[in-house]
Amino acid sequence: MIEDLDNKIVFEQAKACAFDYMDTIPTRAVFPSVRAIDDLAQFEEPLPAGGESGEEILKMLHRYGSPATAAQTGGRYFGFVNGGAVPTAVAARWLADVWDQNAGLYLTSPISSKLEEVCEGWLVDLLGLPPQTVAGFVGGTSLASFCGLAAARYELLKRLGWDVNEKGMRAAPAVRVVVGEQAHGSIFKALSLLGFGRENIETLPADAQGRMDASRLPNLDSETLLVTQAGNVNTGAFDDFEAITERAVKSGAWVHVDGAFGLWAAVSKSKRRLTAGIEKADSWSVDAHKTLNTPYDCGIVLCKHRIPLVAAMQASGAYLEYSDQRDGMLYVPEMSRRARSVELWTTLKYLGSEGIEQLVDGLCDRARQFAAGLHAEGFRVLNEVVFNQVLFAADTPEQTRSVLDTVQRSGICWCGGSSWEGNPAIRVSVCSWATTAEDVENSVSAFARAKGNHSPV
Ligand SMILES: *Cc1c(COP(=O)(O)O)cnc(C)c1O
Repeated sequence: MIEDLDNKIVFEQAKACAFDYMDTIPTRAVFPSVRAIDDLAQFEEPLPAGGESGEEILKMLHRYGSPATAAQTGGRYFGFVNGGAVPTAVAARWLADVWDQNAGLYLTSPISSKLEEVCEGWLVDLLGLPPQTVAGFVGGTSLASFCGLAAARYELLKRLGWDVNEKGMRAAPAVRVVVGEQAHGSIFKALSLLGFGRENIETLPADAQGRMDASRLPNLDSETLLVTQAGNVNTGAFDDFEAITERAVKSGAWVHVDGAFGLWAAVSKSKRRLTAGIEKADSWSVDAHKTLNTPYDCGIVLCKHRIPLVAAMQASGAYLEYSDQRDGMLYVPEMSRRARSVELWTTLKYLGSEGIEQLVDGLCDRARQFAAGLHAEGFRVLNEVVFNQVLFAADTPEQTRSVLDTVQRSGICWCGGSSWEGNPAIRVSVCSWATTAEDVENSVSAFARAKGNHSPV
């Protein structure tokens, strides 16, 4: 028997567990202990025939689940490019979860539709994109890029007299696809899902920071898709958009920008030069759950051309008019979706444009502090720290690996490993509002101790 929603006991219990979790974040190991990981075996059981009480289930989740989390909302998690979450946005999401909205159509959720519309306008302004740009709200940048590239595929094939929705890809005329060698793996995945395949992709060589070498850009034309990057996952480097989009626009090529975390540079006066020129592109993908610090899962596709995006997402030649209001499903692959615009809107409104700029600048400042601290401790910083990413190594590949392993196991902070120019490297992504200068100091000290610079604690 399912308990009535009026039965608030489980909600009170969830709140108590959540508050307990929040209270322990500052002292919790940033990555779960071996014991906590071993305890996950508790979840390996046959599906119970009779079902269990909500109270027991929440108890189990908190007892064995909470300790097996990566403590990402604390200030010392620097793995991947995982952002922390702004607490007010998490709270708003709790409320929205209770609403249980389906964001597919205006008719299934007027509030979600309205907030998507508002977020679309705010984002276009904030990022300095052309006013006619439309937005689709998806789970992350992987899917956002897929949407942007699908719109490009639709449009470029249409120019070649081919309606891909009707005729498919098997006998389609060739669309030229040009991608930087250091494009994110999700770009190759999206292209593959769209029926392009690696052999049909031209990759452009990258410079030492992982930027597309703009001087080697081939001749482009109006049947070419060019995929660029704002923020390399290792170095944080940005392609030279001024040079690239200038030429691409003249040729009529479709330019997509993967700006998962880096597109947010556009909101900062001191970082904006990195994204200068992006406004001339045709489509952009960006995560709110990275640099903007919304809760997961919150990605956005932005597209200057509404018709190709909607046609690609509806797999129909004609744009279908569902209602006078915004129907979110027109811009994304899914039909039913949760109302993720709630936490996006909340985060934008809570921070305001100045707060967003401060957030971005703060992440970059902490990254520079991290790099300076590591340098002072004798580590080799491998990248120009232009944004929030720091890539570094110890004296030898073996030492790099062992230092990383020691720090990861210490629970003091967590950074991921990477590989750069064929050698192991350690990647720091400062991506949470919660990271303080002290968190950075403590983390640098952990690396210094692991390297043997100071007596071990
Ligand atoms: C994180 C990232 C992606 C993938 O985004 P998801 O939200 O994880 O799907 C794509 N490109 C870049 C540059 C990224 O940093």
